[in-house]
Amino acid sequence: MKIVRIRTGSDEIAYGGVEPEGIRIYRGTPFVAWEPTEVVVGFAEAHLLAPVFPTKVVGVGRNYPDHAAEHAVAVPEEPLIFLKPATAVIGPLAPIVLPPDSSHVEHEAELAVVMGTVTRNVAIEDVGAHLLGYTAANDVSARDLQRKDGQWSRAKGFDTFCPLGPAIETEVDPLEGLAITCRVDGEVRQSGTTADMVFGVAEIVAFISRVMTLLPGDVILTGTPAGVGPLVAGNRVEVEIERIGSLVNPVIRR
Ligand code: MG
Repeated sequence: MKIVRIRTGSDEIAYGGVEPEGIRIYRGTPFVAWEPTEVVVGFAEAHLLAPVFPTKVVGVGRNYPDHAAEHAVAVPEEPLIFLKPATAVIGPLAPIVLPPDSSHVEHEAELAVVMGTVTRNVAIEDVGAHLLGYTAANDVSARDLQRKDGQWSRAKGFDTFCPLGPAIETEVDPLEGLAITCRVDGEVRQSGTTADMVFGVAEIVAFISRVMTLLPGDVILTGTPAGVGPLVAGNRVEVEIERIGSLVNPVIRR
């Protein structure tokens, strides 16, 4: 199913399931206990929020060989992880705000994993049971600050630098090779497939869970294919992942 999180016309926030005629509101959350209600909200009346609000977002760097090559760096021997703060998360159509501290902000289209359970020290073969599903993400990065700082907290941590959505798809398998596309103002900038990841989802989740406990709703960004490029105010950036959906955000300057 496709899970969304919405603000309804009456200003309530709820999880919902996408159905042909609209979004069915659920009581509870997909992480503990939930059940469908009789209420179906029309697509036009539902304001989509980020489909999850994580306690942390863990990124994986250089996880596609073609992207490592465009930055002239080697593919790492084990997953190269970093953190983005939860406060960077925004939902579909919310603006990415370019900060005055950077003059070179780039898009990175990525498959995002959404954790379903408390996960610590999980074995690779057991990872599947710990996942809720997958959504699309944009690992927005201030490239000039990333190079200057030598580590990535500032470059990847600005408010609005983690668009997520539009929905969490629970039925897909990235090993099948889902197309990842990034368009800026309609022009294709990135075009890859999840089949090209250096470290697969199970390997990444198992690796991270040996370092830190992953909580329900935590998000893992699995790396970006080649073609990253600059965003400027006025752009409309879209990350589309096959069978998951299309995440669109306008870009503004503060
Ligand atoms: Mg990235």
